[in-house]
Amino acid sequence: MYYLGKLCIPKGERVHVIREAHTSLVSGHFGVEKILCHVQIFCFWPHMKNIVTHYVKGCVMCSVSKHSNRKLGLYTPLLILNHPWESVSMDLVGGFPLSRKIHDYLYVVVHRFSKMCNLMPCKKKITAEQTAYLFFSMFGSILGCPHRLCQINTLALLESFGPTCGR
Ligand SMILES: [Zn+2]
Repeated sequence: MYYLGKLCIPKGERVHVIREAHTSLVSGHFGVEKILCHVQIFCFWPHMKNIVTHYVKGCVMCSVSKHSNRKLGLYTPLLILNHPWESVSMDLVGGFPLSRKIHDYLYVVVHRFSKMCNLMPCKKKITAEQTAYLFFSMFGSILGCPHRLCQINTLALLESFGPTCGR
């Protein structure tokens, strides 16, 4: 059956047409508008845009791999540094297999001026105080506290470094 020269697709077959237009090797997970452009050339069914939109929104591959069109806010660049030990970033990275000393995370400290990276083994449940102890045992006696700390996971961790450290 044809409507305005286009093939009318029965309800049970529409999903197959959309799947072919969206996920076949040739199509490559196009968005709603491109799928509609291709499908509307030869096919017709009522409320096509709604059904195609619903299908594309439900595609797992698209939801995982395609970036969102949301506005992410303004880019905030880090400060340009003039001196070593002016700013340090730190983070906890992990989920590693347990070591002999039962460490499964790394406490990562990056000196932003030189890009030098220090890795210290730790445990997943490391406290803010233990993190501060690790930091000062490694750097505190030699270099003191940097002027600026950034990229810390939790405020509690930042607070444990005390009021003498800049933010
Ligand atoms: Zn998709």
